[in-house]
Amino acid sequence: MSDLQAKLGGSLNKIQDSLQQGKQKFQAVQEMGQYKKEIQDISEARSSLILKLGEETYQKIRTGELQDVKLRDYVLEIAKLDSQIYRAQKALEELNQKGATKTCSNCGGTIDSSDKFCGFCGEKQETPAELNGQIELVSCPTCEEQIPANSSFCPCCGSRLA
Ligand SMILES: [Zn+2]
Ligand SMILES: [Zn+2]
Repeated sequence: MSDLQAKLGGSLNKIQDSLQQGKQKFQAVQEMGQYKKEIQDISEARSSLILKLGEETYQKIRTGELQDVKLRDYVLEIAKLDSQIYRAQKALEELNQKGATKTCSNCGGTIDSSDKFCGFCGEKQETPAELNGQIELVSCPTCEEQIPANSSFCPCCGSRLA
């Protein structure tokens, strides 16, 4: 074998080696990607199960079926957040009602739905009992929100009421 042939042979081997290495590297990267995807998929499935478990547990605590001192702290935190959502929703409802109009039953004039009297004929307008303060309110023992006294469950945090 001449020097040249030996050199050529050596280079060819090197190229084949690096091709082989490249192929192995590619396979490893592909496998890593598969594992990463697998971990991600399983983690997502796990998270959604944990969420369902949490919702069901929370439901059981709210109805009094499950009592656990350690879980109580979570419940109080969640009740606080529920209370914030409840208030924001109420504020949103009120803003919606402010912009809404209705027709006066007496003269047919278009008036604000929160108006107590018609601006055209002076007819007294029916307003929802809640707005008139006719509904007796009590404080929810869990979230401390002011809620209608006749509720079986708190409309804010969902706790069963005595
Ligand atoms: Zn009117
Ligand atoms: Zn409540």
